[in-house]
Amino acid sequence: MSVLIVGSTALDSIKTPKAENPRLLGGSASHAAVAASFFAPVKLVGVVGEDFPRRYVRLYEHHKIELAGLQRLPGKTFHWSGEYEANMNNRRTLLTELGVFETFTPKLPEAHRSAPFVLLANIAPALQHHVLDQMRRPRFVTADTMDLWLNVALPDLLRLLKRLDAFVLNDSEAQQLTGEENLFTALRKIHRLGPKYVVIKQGSHGSVLSGPRGQFLCPAYPLRRVVDPTGAGDSFVGGMMGYLAAGKGSIDGNIRRAMVYGSVVASFCCEGFGLQRTTRVTRAQIEERVRELQRLTKF
Ligand code: AMP
Repeated sequence: MSVLIVGSTALDSIKTPKAENPRLLGGSASHAAVAASFFAPVKLVGVVGEDFPRRYVRLYEHHKIELAGLQRLPGKTFHWSGEYEANMNNRRTLLTELGVFETFTPKLPEAHRSAPFVLLANIAPALQHHVLDQMRRPRFVTADTMDLWLNVALPDLLRLLKRLDAFVLNDSEAQQLTGEENLFTALRKIHRLGPKYVVIKQGSHGSVLSGPRGQFLCPAYPLRRVVDPTGAGDSFVGGMMGYLAAGKGSIDGNIRRAMVYGSVVASFCCEGFGLQRTTRVTRAQIEERVRELQRLTKF
């Protein structure tokens, strides 16, 4: 089954203590789409400007990502720039140029409206609503978000939570949303806002799921060297949704494994700038890391 993914399609300029890389292929939807494409067919919905390089389109195509929902508009592609501190966890946004995102309204091609799995990757909640409005009874809808939307679009986000099956956010966002420092109290409060499944990401400490079958602690793959963690969260949720879409049987029966696959794809993402490493990974390498995680967490 296919996954429809909407989110940002961006040019990212990333600075770490060791290197600086301008105008890489980035954006929440790009990372999520490449991650999901290892497991299931992906339909990408987004917008780019006239400056979007042809080689990035070819990268999407290389991953067999369906691009009928990717608009190209006059103007500049969304450009985001960030800088990491030496610990590679603390990140500062240096620049956000909305470009063509300023006037973007996602319009889904007819064939996209019946996609069974929908990932509303990080983008303004109003646009996430707009995509959902056009869908025909999807089987499973997941959304991701960021602190910006908690600050500037909270009412839209709260309305969105009531339309989701699953909500994925990081630990500081969960704390901001609920006012709770304790992760497990926060999970309970977020369920009350709507979603049946809640996943809280904790960066290099893994993630926690809360759902109808209880809770699950998903490990992060232990990396010795992080090159650039940009997009790791998007890769995690993209991999998870791709795996769920490919799986036979129930969501409940597959979601824990799906998180582990998401976690592994996210680990590859961190090993290169932007999408440079993720786009070179093979399914066999993913399977090897899944087995390693299994060995590491078995007792
Ligand atoms: P993450 O590292 O998972 O937080 O995701 C980083 C990605 O988010 C980058 O590729 C950016 O292009 C994208 N991004 C940054 N700011 C925004 C924003 N305001 N809206 C949508 N996407 C964004």
